[in-house]
Amino acid sequence: MDVLDRALKDVNSVSADELEKLYDYDIFTLGEAASSLRVPKYGKKVFFNTNRHINPSNICSDVCKFCAFSASRKNPNAYEMSIDEIVYQGVKSFNNGALELHVVGAHNPNHSYEWYFDLFSAIKKAIPKVHLKAMGGAEVDFLHRKFGVSYEKALEDLAKAGVDSMPGGGAEIFDSGIRKKICHGKVSGENWLKIHNIWHKMGKMSNATMLFGHIESRNHRIDHMLRLRAIQQDEARVEAKEGGFNAFVPLLYQTHNNFLNIKASPSGQEILKTIAIARIILSNIPHIKAYWASLGLNLALVAQEFGADDMDGTIEKESIQSAAGAKSKQGVDELEMVAQIADAGFIPVQRDSLYNEVKTYQTSKPTFKAS
Ligand code: SF4
Repeated sequence: MDVLDRALKDVNSVSADELEKLYDYDIFTLGEAASSLRVPKYGKKVFFNTNRHINPSNICSDVCKFCAFSASRKNPNAYEMSIDEIVYQGVKSFNNGALELHVVGAHNPNHSYEWYFDLFSAIKKAIPKVHLKAMGGAEVDFLHRKFGVSYEKALEDLAKAGVDSMPGGGAEIFDSGIRKKICHGKVSGENWLKIHNIWHKMGKMSNATMLFGHIESRNHRIDHMLRLRAIQQDEARVEAKEGGFNAFVPLLYQTHNNFLNIKASPSGQEILKTIAIARIILSNIPHIKAYWASLGLNLALVAQEFGADDMDGTIEKESIQSAAGAKSKQGVDELEMVAQIADAGFIPVQRDSLYNEVKTYQTSKPTFKAS
């Protein structure tokens, strides 16, 4: 049996070196293999969320070379939002239909430990029904480094303050050699995994990202996926939303305004192969997200034929990918998202943050909202 067949049958029986050979298959074979896992679960459905991203500050005590968001000599516009301002923006978005607030920011040394919990409590007090997705593994590690609190205590405090789930940012590439070159000083790969594992064991859900297309090689991506596969909770818990990764999010490195100085992006084929391989290796993570803000809307839609089943959301205002060159600053209108998915031949499904289906669009192409 060849590597692909063996990987489809039982990924655990295939070595990392062999899994890297999946890249040698042609793109159509990989797409077909990824679809053979995607279609039985989701058919032609493509999921999206109505959400709002809020980034409270870009002042950061860490220096990641790939980052164009944090205030630096390449981005001199430092800012901090007050709690009142964040709550105001959150309420406004909720009243306009957002189901989720996605709150992540830089590691701002000016904030106290209590500031975070005051913020999340204030959001939940004002809009108790919103799903609060906040504080990735790297931010939790920052709280641990700055304030000396254990991961367990920080995560318990976040849950008490109303954080419902954790986003997947900060994972970058787990390999320590690559991390040393692109984000030295930030959370280690091992600790990122440890933090998410603790959170999952508390019965909570999170996502997991992988930043690719910079100085890493294919073997680093395979290693990254295998480490995620290894800590995923058992299927029953994940199905019951009782802890685990909901979605894997491959993030394409953006080339502008950062200190890595890599000007070439991977080819479309390499990106789609990576997504298809993710679907095969991470068969124990329910959703593979083609994050449109990172890939662009068109490639994110094509990726739905290569194992992805989710586009992420409307976002409303995107500051992190767009700072590095992505065309995502304004988010995307909900009806436009629906139209794009339908035009690509899929069934648009609005979901909540835990992938419960909210609305399925069975109709033909919806009309655009007048601007
Ligand atoms: S990626 Fe995050 S931690 Fe790293 S410099 Fe940017 S804002 Fe700071």
